[in-house]
Amino acid sequence: MGEYAIVDEHEVKLGVCEDLYYTRLSQATGLVTLDGEAVDNPTSGYRFRFPFPDEDHIQLGAFPDFERGVLLPFASKPTDAWVNVEPEQHRRSLYLRVPLYNGKEYGDSTYFRTVEVACPVAQGEIENIPVEIIQQRLMGDGHLAVIVRCGFCGSIYRLTPAETRAMCEAITARVPVLTEFWAKMLQRLLP
Ligand SMILES: [Zn+2]
Repeated sequence: MGEYAIVDEHEVKLGVCEDLYYTRLSQATGLVTLDGEAVDNPTSGYRFRFPFPDEDHIQLGAFPDFERGVLLPFASKPTDAWVNVEPEQHRRSLYLRVPLYNGKEYGDSTYFRTVEVACPVAQGEIENIPVEIIQQRLMGDGHLAVIVRCGFCGSIYRLTPAETRAMCEAITARVPVLTEFWAKMLQRLLP
């Protein structure tokens, strides 16, 4: 179900259900949805678009790529604090389409085959894990939790402040020269 609010006398779509793809928390202060829900109230459970530094000029409601995630600048390991390997956090059923041996598909369903597999993170079968930063959630105690996504199965989960700090320390330690983008990301990730 879409979430909308009136901004400057115009109806603006904020997102869908708890996922406010089209607004950062800083842009949503004081907004009330058409259903009467205060957007910046921690109890409403909304997840806000992460304030990606290269989107600072974009207005509320105008963000492209609604489910954008930013991949960490290094591959995470199963033992890293911010990698959630609780099997229930990852999808047990991923349906993968098998192309022909040469990678081709021929446009109709004649040769399509699908296989069902569990997320390799849940299976503990993988060395390098793609972790994407996607959202923030305002918690009851006032801190902003970071929401990340598994690049294999798309499952999302919330990091604790300690997990977020460990992730930020790893960004500093494992990336020799931080880009301006990641220097700003670090400032915005730290609780
Ligand atoms: Zn997964």
